Amino acid sequence: MKNLSYFTLSLSGGKDSLALFLKILEEGVRLDEVVTVDLGDEYQATYDTLLFAASICLKERIKFTVLSIPETEEYQEYRAATGVEIGMFEFMVFEHEKQNGCKGYGWCGKQRWGTAIKRQLLNGYYQSLERFVIEYVGIAADEVQRIDIKPHKNYAKSYPLIKWGMTEADCLEYCYQHGVQWKQSGIRLYDILDRVSCQHCQQKNLKELRNIRKYLPELWNGFKDWQNRIPFPYRSDGSTIYDLDKRFASENMQLSLFDIGIKEAME
Ligand code: SF4
Repeated sequence: MKNLSYFTLSLSGGKDSLALFLKILEEGVRLDEVVTVDLGDEYQATYDTLLFAASICLKERIKFTVLSIPETEEYQEYRAATGVEIGMFEFMVFEHEKQNGCKGYGWCGKQRWGTAIKRQLLNGYYQSLERFVIEYVGIAADEVQRIDIKPHKNYAKSYPLIKWGMTEADCLEYCYQHGVQWKQSGIRLYDILDRVSCQHCQQKNLKELRNIRKYLPELWNGFKDWQNRIPFPYRSDGSTIYDLDKRFASENMQLSLFDIGIKEAME
């Protein structure tokens, strides 16, 4: 190790890590570098937020680093052969040839292969710095069960939000107060989603999926497109995106009939 203690922040672009970033600046805590991993499937609102953070880093002279999945030979050959413009993440979802000969990892969420890639990229990057890294991680005070206590070679994690007693709700409010709203198609994403993670993440719950269908129809069409190309269902109960689409449409129909019934009863 050449130098001791280098302070980084792992910024996902979601409410907790952004609140941590803003609070660190406000408190004057040392921060040498902000690192974000772009898998390539973020919401536009997340990219806007990352750009906002990058511009602050530029002003404050804090290094801002974006890590992405390196292109593989297989990916380059695929693009050269097909001419299809596709990012590495989508390539891995649909096209990458797995050891069992099947194509594509499919949805990421139950098998969190994308999370494993993120960890690998971050870990590799920290090792390459040849310093002892203290990584600030945005885990809120009401999710301490997510703390990672495993030892890591050449770096340690620090959780200031827990020390500051900032819950997830506090983090969101704090970001809103600082003007970051994750607005997309006129909607604040945190009004309709519990987590602003990858757009096609398989961990979305029914409430989030209903809301995406209702408020972000383009993304919902994207889910259908992915389902057309992924040979297994979105949900572990066997429901495909098309099953969910029918289910949500039928729920809406029942609600409208109920509304009509109430209206008639009132007349
Ligand atoms: S947010 Fe979801 S899709 Fe993205 S890497 Fe994590 S588990 Fe995978």
